[in-house]
Amino acid sequence: MDFKNLSLIELSELVKNWKTTTSEIYNYFLERTKEYNSELNAFNTLPEESFVWDSEKSLPIAIKDIFCETGIRTTASSKMLVDFIPPYESTITERMKWAGFISFGKTNMDEFAMGWSGENSAFGPARNPWDTTRIPGGSSSGSAVAVAAWLVPAALGTDTGGSIRQPASMCGVVGFKPGYGRNSRYGVMAMASSLDCPGYFTRTVQDAALLYEVTAGYDSKDSTSLTAPVSIDSNIWKRQDLKWLKVGIPKEYFIDGIDSGVRSAIDNAIANIRDMWAEVIEISLPHTEHGVSVYYTICPAEVASNLARYDGIRYGALSGTGGNIVENRSEALGNEIQRRSLVGSYVLSSGFYDAYYKKATAVRELIRQDFSEAFAQVDVIVTPTAPTVAWKIGEKWSDPLSLYLEDIFTIPASLAWLPGLTIPVGFASPKDDSSIELPVGMQILGPVLGEEKVLMVGHIIEQAMKWIIESKKPKIF
Ligand code: GLN
Repeated sequence: MDFKNLSLIELSELVKNWKTTTSEIYNYFLERTKEYNSELNAFNTLPEESFVWDSEKSLPIAIKDIFCETGIRTTASSKMLVDFIPPYESTITERMKWAGFISFGKTNMDEFAMGWSGENSAFGPARNPWDTTRIPGGSSSGSAVAVAAWLVPAALGTDTGGSIRQPASMCGVVGFKPGYGRNSRYGVMAMASSLDCPGYFTRTVQDAALLYEVTAGYDSKDSTSLTAPVSIDSNIWKRQDLKWLKVGIPKEYFIDGIDSGVRSAIDNAIANIRDMWAEVIEISLPHTEHGVSVYYTICPAEVASNLARYDGIRYGALSGTGGNIVENRSEALGNEIQRRSLVGSYVLSSGFYDAYYKKATAVRELIRQDFSEAFAQVDVIVTPTAPTVAWKIGEKWSDPLSLYLEDIFTIPASLAWLPGLTIPVGFASPKDDSSIELPVGMQILGPVLGEEKVLMVGHIIEQAMKWIIESKKPKIF
């Protein structure tokens, strides 16, 4: 049986109706993974050769290599942790397994989740299944690739400033980041603690909702975990029009730097939203232009604190070799980690704290207020997910500034702790090659605790635009 094209929900229906078994499904994806991983480099650790138990939900989910799982090597794609075997389990993977899902290998990523392209990895870059000479986006590069190339029906990722939404957009799959505090951070290696959000890569919005209901909700092991209940009303999947909906289009997100192909795919999606009778309103989020600088002040500050523990002495790949902290960190941490640790220590230092870190925190609050004011007028906000489609591996590698700007549309929602979804809505040619077309994602943002609304709107638009996405398949299919 060919399981490509099927969602988690469709696969579990097949099992329920005795059309197949979960081991058959597992083996199918295992074979595909073994066949294509050398070309795609989506996995740092391949899935286990077999699994034993069979229930309707025992479907495979690939895990970003940043979620600790007891006894399973977890590296964050860092030389520092290449042989780290966690003695404990993250809450998210624990809940996923309790629900019956099976963990399916560890996916490649940018080191400690810092990156845009998957190129900052000790395991080498993952490759985009639509064009393997191109980046898949990052930092959750391997999770996006694995779902897009049908190596697995769904995968876990983390999103600190866009690391689920951006690679999902570049690979043409659904990416969902619930709001901050909805998914526990316990057992997820910390990057920037006031921003890190675990979430999902799936084929459909409904699959994302399914996983969200399984993993999200209060966890006493994470002090910033929210207590509000997590439940999705199944009636939301029956709606087909957007008559009741007010959609905000922020003018600051439709700037000159966007690729024209991306712009027209998003304009087309907005026209579809209008056709479904939603009221589309232009809004303003005036502090958007400061998002990137605020993020690249706060994030490095938190990175410098969180990653100080990796000294290569108490643990880490070099422990026991007798080196000192400076040598070990220079040897085992990549350039981007070192760059952020330096910037972070600087903005936190006593002479510069007020000028940088404190100011960034104040502007973060203004960005948050922009969104609160906007959500007093509209139900959801719709934007492009990224300004470009996937670029060539190596193309922007030596230019961190141009990479920092790639995050311009995803960062503000991260700073404001909002839920964000990206769904594929069309295709565009990259600037350097008019003969190919690559996926374009549209971002749907909701207010704090607005996950259900975001998923409902995403599902309705997905149904209306599915035919466009299904008209093309990745090269590796
Ligand atoms: N690209 C952003 C960064 O490098 C976002 C990363 C993320 O969300 N983990 O920080």
